[in-house]
Amino acid sequence: MSNAKERALRALVVKACHALSAQGLVAATDGNVSARLDAQTFLVTPSGVSKGEVTARSLLRCDSTGRGIGLPAGAKISSEILMHLAVYAKRPDVKAVVHAHPPTACAFTLAGMERLFREPVLSEVAALLGPVPCAPYRTPGTAALAQAAARACRNADAVLLARHGAIALGADPWQAFLRMEKLEHAARTFRDAIALAGSPGRIKRLTARELAAVLERHGTPEVKARWRGRLP
Ligand SMILES: [Zn+2]
Repeated sequence: MSNAKERALRALVVKACHALSAQGLVAATDGNVSARLDAQTFLVTPSGVSKGEVTARSLLRCDSTGRGIGLPAGAKISSEILMHLAVYAKRPDVKAVVHAHPPTACAFTLAGMERLFREPVLSEVAALLGPVPCAPYRTPGTAALAQAAARACRNADAVLLARHGAIALGADPWQAFLRMEKLEHAARTFRDAIALAGSPGRIKRLTARELAAVLERHGTPEVKARWRGRLP
């Protein structure tokens, strides 16, 4: 990757980090963002830094095993690098990964109500994200979490991590951020609808015909394939 392209990519990672912080999708030093520089090299946020304070110069490089490349003294790669690398290994099309702790989406997993995210509820979420699966709880920072998350990402661009948070994938860091933002926004709408309706079972779903129509207009072939079985 040329220097100019790497500079542009660093700027997008920083933009995504600042937006995560500004929108309360992370707290303190939580969360991490990475981007693919080439097949074997990645940019990743440093450990222990608030996403609101990440700068282009503070981003670190690592290889596909998570080993740092030319790290400045004292710099430490994000604790969840294994999860990012496992996703990239499973999804060669993905160029950026955002991990955050969106509070409302996470609350659904604490309440055991994550199934709602696999249902066609909001038309644009259904068309742009598809069903959002939930990876089982595993200890943060472990290879076990990395494997569980990567498995859930095989067929999804946004995934809940049970009792922890979420990851979102994209062709660039900003697209990955926007998917994370959309997930949390949907979660807030679900929460409010459940409060009004009294139970998740009373939330209205799209009919098979309504789902087919919105996918026809706005869905990519990948998202359409993820709803196979729910269409007329
Ligand atoms: Zn986390």
